Amino acid sequence: MLVIDGQIVSVGTRREVEAQKEARRAEKIDVGGRVVLPGFVDSHTHLIHAASRAEEYELKIQGANYEEIARKGGGILNSVKKLRAATAEALKLRGRAALQEFAAHGTTTVEAKSGYGLDIASEMKILKLQRELNEEQPLEIVSTFLGAHVVPEEFRGTAGGAKRYIRILLEQMMPEVVNEGLAEFCDAFCDRGAFTRKQSKQVLSEGQLHGLVPRLHAEQLSHTGATQLAVELGAASCDHLDRINDSDVRALGKSNTVATLLPGCDFHLGGKQYAPARKLIEAGAIVALATDYNPGTSPTVSMSMVLSLACTQLRMNPAEAIAAATINAAFALRREKRLGSLEKGKQADLAVFEVEDYREIPYYFGMNRCWMTVKRGEIIYMQD
Ligand SMILES: [Zn+2]
Repeated sequence: MLVIDGQIVSVGTRREVEAQKEARRAEKIDVGGRVVLPGFVDSHTHLIHAASRAEEYELKIQGANYEEIARKGGGILNSVKKLRAATAEALKLRGRAALQEFAAHGTTTVEAKSGYGLDIASEMKILKLQRELNEEQPLEIVSTFLGAHVVPEEFRGTAGGAKRYIRILLEQMMPEVVNEGLAEFCDAFCDRGAFTRKQSKQVLSEGQLHGLVPRLHAEQLSHTGATQLAVELGAASCDHLDRINDSDVRALGKSNTVATLLPGCDFHLGGKQYAPARKLIEAGAIVALATDYNPGTSPTVSMSMVLSLACTQLRMNPAEAIAAATINAAFALRREKRLGSLEKGKQADLAVFEVEDYREIPYYFGMNRCWMTVKRGEIIYMQD
């Protein structure tokens, strides 16, 4: 592969590539027979958060379920409380450390959502940090406004609280996010305990009027019709999909809305009901995989681990899983023309693995075999 100014200009056999005139002066990087993939595109993360929720992890192991914990002020609201109290400096330090970990695991592009702020100042704090981090370190960050994550504490317990919060979200938060150019996408958590289908539609449609492309957290805990809504709105993706039915599968099969599966959540929560990946693939849906890196349900940056889960739990084969974590995920972020594959004209974002065969990447589960990561033609990570 020949790379000039961060772009792939030629891919082929050693003889073909080395015969080119521009190749003569090129710096040579020999990866010694290792496997080279496009850098992973992680199309669903909650990058900026203040702390882990290890205390809830233990409660869950003892039998409390995710929704019970949420009702007692744990869950997302727990993360909101911690984020509002945290300084921008502390959040940035944690975010930057996570991004280094992503790079060390072969990920070169990360989508990141707000949604642990849920008031104007805190949502802006998150999105501004994402922009700063995008400029200050090598990984590419794609920003999503998730003001509709859950109804914040101060709007609960009174009639019409959700309605009042949505009004603030639409009339104050969203215009500010758009004016500052802080997000490309708008997301909503459409599920039991979060927002209804009608409320999600209201938020996402208003976002579309402002130029924000919709994506959706859909059918994770219950079946709400969110998938059909995503298809109807022409959303870039709908994510989770553990509880979709056959008609949802058919709708996704006929649409360009990416079905983003997040098996790390099911694994961490000890769930048994993984999304029906095989049915989606057979119906012709565009399936992507992401970590959903977040402190409550999927505390991992490891796409390799997600690939392992996709293979053993979702019954995807290794090639399907790798495509889902690269080119299909790039499509979910509307970057498929520039990212997600190793072809002439694409950005030189690469992950090199210490394996003899690409199938060994998911095969060695829970192990990081990433040996080198390259972003825009520059080495950004090298194993010691
Ligand atoms: Zn999420």
